[in-house]
Amino acid sequence: MSKGVLFDATKCIGCRACQVACKSWNENRSEDTANRGTAENPPHLSADTWTKMRFTEIEGKDGFQWVFTKLQCMHCEHPACATACIVGAFEKTKEGAVVYDAKKCIGCRYCMVACPFGVPAFEWDRPIPYIRKCTFCFDRLKGGMAPSCATACPSGALSFGDRAELLAEAKRRIETAPARYVPHVYGEKEAGGTCWLYISSVPFESVGFPKLGPERMSVFSDPLMHAVPPVAVVVAGLMTGIYWFSKRREKIAAHEDISEEKE
Ligand code: SF4
Ligand code: SF4
Ligand code: SF4
Repeated sequence: MSKGVLFDATKCIGCRACQVACKSWNENRSEDTANRGTAENPPHLSADTWTKMRFTEIEGKDGFQWVFTKLQCMHCEHPACATACIVGAFEKTKEGAVVYDAKKCIGCRYCMVACPFGVPAFEWDRPIPYIRKCTFCFDRLKGGMAPSCATACPSGALSFGDRAELLAEAKRRIETAPARYVPHVYGEKEAGGTCWLYISSVPFESVGFPKLGPERMSVFSDPLMHAVPPVAVVVAGLMTGIYWFSKRREKIAAHEDISEEKE
């Protein structure tokens, strides 16, 4: 059964424990975030930051208020990244996680263009770059554990469980406290549905979430992909060549290191 996470923005206190837990479990590098001219830290999802809190100060019915929202891969029911990938490097698992196989990736970055949430990030500063994104802590999921971020949350803003049960719980909360929530579960239908679901006291557009219909994004990317096979072939060939060249250069460097040690 597909798993999911329900994020309740009315319970989030913006402590960023989830951000830290994600970095810690996945052993991702820290980032230099000084002098970026933004209160958000770090400002964007990246190859080293798979989740981040967005801080938005907006006017509600009780005056100005801070609203905190958590960003990461949404683990779409019909992932556009997977449809766009010409070598099948993305896979939607039965657990709900959308996982990535670096061994198959040729670095064309179609997935970055296709994702409606701007999630996949490229390792621009690595000699052999790969795509990186939230994995839904698939290594933990397979062992029956909750994602690291959900486990770390001290306020109950993140609930992990079966997607269908979380969706029912989200609707129950909205129904029993209509003054607390807008009547919208983000992710129930957007882009064909996502495993990560959100409820909030303010409309999702006001905190920067893309307004998406219920159509699967793959409906749009399928014809696009099929319309450009010559380009795809050229890009694939080029990226494979770069990959081969980089690998070879790495092997030469390793060989030179070993030779120096022997001398
Ligand atoms: S949010 Fe983007 S990267 Fe994540 S599964 Fe959906 S399309 Fe793929
Ligand atoms: S599910 Fe795992 S990888 Fe994804 S944001 Fe949470 S801790 Fe990070
Ligand atoms: S750990 Fe929980 S309360 Fe803290 S920022 Fe993340 S979601 Fe919000």
